[in-house]
Amino acid sequence: MTTQTTTPQDAAGRPARPARTPKPNGQWKIDGTTPLNHNEEFKQEGPPLEVRERIESTYAHEGFDSIADDDLHGRFRWWGLYTQRKPGIDGGRTATLEPHELEDRYFMLRVRTDGAELTPDALRVLGGISEDFGRGTADVTDRQNIQYHWIEIESMPEIWRRLDTVGLETTTACGDSPRAFLGSPVAGIASDEIIDATPVIDEIKRRFIGDPALANLPRKFKTAISGHPSLDVVHEINDISLVGVEHPERGAGFDLWVGGGLSTAPRLGERLGVFVTADQAPDVWHGVIRIFRDYGYRRLRNKARLKFLLKDWGPEKFREVLETEYLGYALPDGPPPAPATRPGDHVGVHEQKDGDFYVGAAPVVGRVGGGTLTGLADLLESVGARSARLTAHQKVVVLGVPADRVDELVDGLEPLGLTARPSLFRRNTIACTGIEFCKLAIVDTKDTAARVIAELEQRLDEQAEQLDRPISLNVNGCPNSCARIQTADIGLKGQIITVDGEQMPGFQVHLGGSLAGQGHDAGGLGRTVRGLKIPATEIADYVERVVRRYAADRTDGE
Ligand code: SF4
Repeated sequence: MTTQTTTPQDAAGRPARPARTPKPNGQWKIDGTTPLNHNEEFKQEGPPLEVRERIESTYAHEGFDSIADDDLHGRFRWWGLYTQRKPGIDGGRTATLEPHELEDRYFMLRVRTDGAELTPDALRVLGGISEDFGRGTADVTDRQNIQYHWIEIESMPEIWRRLDTVGLETTTACGDSPRAFLGSPVAGIASDEIIDATPVIDEIKRRFIGDPALANLPRKFKTAISGHPSLDVVHEINDISLVGVEHPERGAGFDLWVGGGLSTAPRLGERLGVFVTADQAPDVWHGVIRIFRDYGYRRLRNKARLKFLLKDWGPEKFREVLETEYLGYALPDGPPPAPATRPGDHVGVHEQKDGDFYVGAAPVVGRVGGGTLTGLADLLESVGARSARLTAHQKVVVLGVPADRVDELVDGLEPLGLTARPSLFRRNTIACTGIEFCKLAIVDTKDTAARVIAELEQRLDEQAEQLDRPISLNVNGCPNSCARIQTADIGLKGQIITVDGEQMPGFQVHLGGSLAGQGHDAGGLGRTVRGLKIPATEIADYVERVVRRYAADRTDGE
């Protein structure tokens, strides 16, 4: 007997084309670990964390020119180091120059604080590093880092030595790794706290930060953990967030969110609908980061964040994989967080649960500098305050101020460039690094935002008093959204614009974004105002018009 084989045909009777094998996405558990691009190659060839040993033994002695390319432009990030932009290159040339033509021989350095308390000793060390190695620069970033500029590679061993004396580090402050954690600035001290997340953050850091098994992720991995009802860690836009909730039967614990992230394809994180106890939280964090490591997409870097996997899987499948493959047990269902009780920047004077006070103060767009950090250390000691923490809104919160010394502290902050009584605009404006130091920037941000704040303080004093809700202004130097452009009432995205045939620095406008901890009940992404591009010199005029119209025309509760 013979067997007849038939050739598959398409609808028109032609021989059908063989089905295409889908391209691998670089998911380790599905496609294997063969690198699909140069980034993946260098991470496998030389484990990124090992570069610190080369910095200390070789590069710090032999200087900038001795640094291997994959270390300089790749692995250095795992220790918080990026080359900074050469001064004087205008934003119109950002896209046309090669990266090495844009970069200087100095570094930006990030020190992670992970929501920890900074004692006067720690503040003094941070200030000293700025003065001795960073030309006095130091910014509070919106990820609670201290960011320096002008750092030379020769200084790194001494910087690490000093940081180590006060328990601070730059480990995985950048790179495809678990970046700095956002923690509540009032953890453990606020009287209205649902749960103190400090032990959870400490335990995750102790077990997992610096773990080589978690140092080659598809992309960065951002964490936020807070048990404060002001929802003060922008939980909607992190890869993983644990948000304090009260379970009706099980007590205080956390609601788990995954897959948030902004940049060029913004997505708010989603709840998995589970309740996580404080004891379980480190293992749950470890499960989620390993899902990202094992299943995250590695073929294209612009599709590699966890949000893309979550989009394809959906929260139900994500939860199932977490429970069955990584935890080995099911998590109970849990409630969502309640709406934010008040703004999560903690600005102003507030009573602690122990009768002392905490005081939130605003620098201008996060700029503090070494002198401010050292001066703050002296001030804390002189009034008997305990410590300071940084916020996700580029602010500083002083903790443990005795009741009878609060006024002295508040007055003492002013000459340091910090104020506990900021204007509406100073309080609610943040800005990314921008063209001063960032190689990707197209326009200036910090100076522009500082000028706009000063202008608006003059022009809109009266309107500010009528507004019972903050109006947030987030200024970004390029489309990357480090300053969370899509989550602000007014978000500005830097670009070169053309006005009457002339090219100039300007901004595209996004309106109507919000996060739950910024005086809104729930987060939502803003929309691009099509066709609206404002020259950098006219931003104050534009914001003034928007605020005047909003103040005059808004309806009740709007
Ligand atoms: Fe640099 Fe752009 Fe990020 Fe600003 S948003 S810090 S310009 S990459």
